[in-house]
Amino acid sequence: MADTCAENGLRSVEAAKQELIDSISPITGCETIPLGRASGRVLAEPVIAALDLPPCDNSAMDGYALCGESASYTVIGKSLAGHPFNGTLEPAQAARITTGAAVPPGADRVQMQENCTLDGDQLSMSRPARPGENIRRRGEDVHTGQSLIPVGSKIKVPHIALLAAAGVAEVTVLRKIKAALLSIGDELKPIGTPVSELGDGDIYDSNRIALKAALEQLDVEVLDLGCWPDQPEKIREAFMQARDNADFVITSGGVSVGEADYTKTVLQQLGEIGFWKLAIKPGKPFAFGRLPKADGEALFFGLPGNPVSAIVTLYQLVLPALEKLCGTAGQYRQPPVQLRARLLNAIRKNPGRTDYQRGFTYRDSDGIQVVGTRGIQGSHILSGFAEANCFVVLPREGGNCETGDWVTVEPFQAPLK
Ligand code: AMP
Ligand code: MG
Repeated sequence: MADTCAENGLRSVEAAKQELIDSISPITGCETIPLGRASGRVLAEPVIAALDLPPCDNSAMDGYALCGESASYTVIGKSLAGHPFNGTLEPAQAARITTGAAVPPGADRVQMQENCTLDGDQLSMSRPARPGENIRRRGEDVHTGQSLIPVGSKIKVPHIALLAAAGVAEVTVLRKIKAALLSIGDELKPIGTPVSELGDGDIYDSNRIALKAALEQLDVEVLDLGCWPDQPEKIREAFMQARDNADFVITSGGVSVGEADYTKTVLQQLGEIGFWKLAIKPGKPFAFGRLPKADGEALFFGLPGNPVSAIVTLYQLVLPALEKLCGTAGQYRQPPVQLRARLLNAIRKNPGRTDYQRGFTYRDSDGIQVVGTRGIQGSHILSGFAEANCFVVLPREGGNCETGDWVTVEPFQAPLK
């Protein structure tokens, strides 16, 4: 698809996202793991039901299993969960039954206890039960031989419950994808360095630990390669280590056009640049590329150094790409959930880039979804980001917005939530 705004040199966020997804192939390689550890992993092989669910007709209520329609019934036994009734009901006979217990042969309906009166062994009821009432049918959930969940599913809690109900103890999943993560910048000091030891202009390397936390929440294995200086030969060494030990490389810093920004040069030497610079705010200097190696290639994502930009570009661009890389079928094509909300404050914006401002959205006392931006909208302002619960997404060609305008918001999802 043509990027209509390409003439000013900046690729649109949508075009960049699509290009990323289209140009990435899912990883191969699987492992078989216990179901209890499968949450968040991607199913690699079909799982076929070895039984029907429910495995037998059973009661949805505590009450009485009944044979046919009658004014009253004679109770001749009971069927408890785990202790079925050993016999067959004849017309006008009943058996006491509990939720989940097998419906005895001959029974064709269950009357809930609340509608029943028992006098000795004689059962009467305030209203008749309809045929089939309160019976959960064998196989109405799952049939023997059916596939339980599609290959490519990201395994979530309901999947685990379903697989466990079908007696599945192990699943074969795609291996975890592996990131190599590094920071670039002479001014960066590791957290833990005493404030008194920071030189003039030094700052803490906050990006690496934040990006690592985000990736780990998404089940990515992270190789933390630390912090590297603004020196091309060092950066080259870092990229080679990263490339050789991971499926993809994430860097932050050094990707802009400053005189000490070597990311692009080194990426060009060792591999190729897919694109660089996007019509996104914050986060314009974002580089995507590839680093070929003996057994394939590592993808390369060069995030801007500014801390808000690094997190925004990871979230908006890298994560959809990783959904594809990790073998998830289809989910990456789902656009993020968006709401319309009424602005509580005016917003300054220049046309030209899609803006992801940090805001807080909620329903006000009149039930109207509203949103206010949080903090100065600078790419270095982390305090406002930390107070936010959504992005206010302002379209590329839009300008200023006024209080009361309706805007699009994207509530934070994992790993921002
Ligand atoms: P750069 O992308 O190298 O031009 O950096 C842009 C801004 O982000 C500068 O103010 C850097 O000091 C800052 N920065 C770069 N890397 C990091 C990092 N790892 N953690 C926090 N801030 C950073
Ligand atoms: Mg720098």
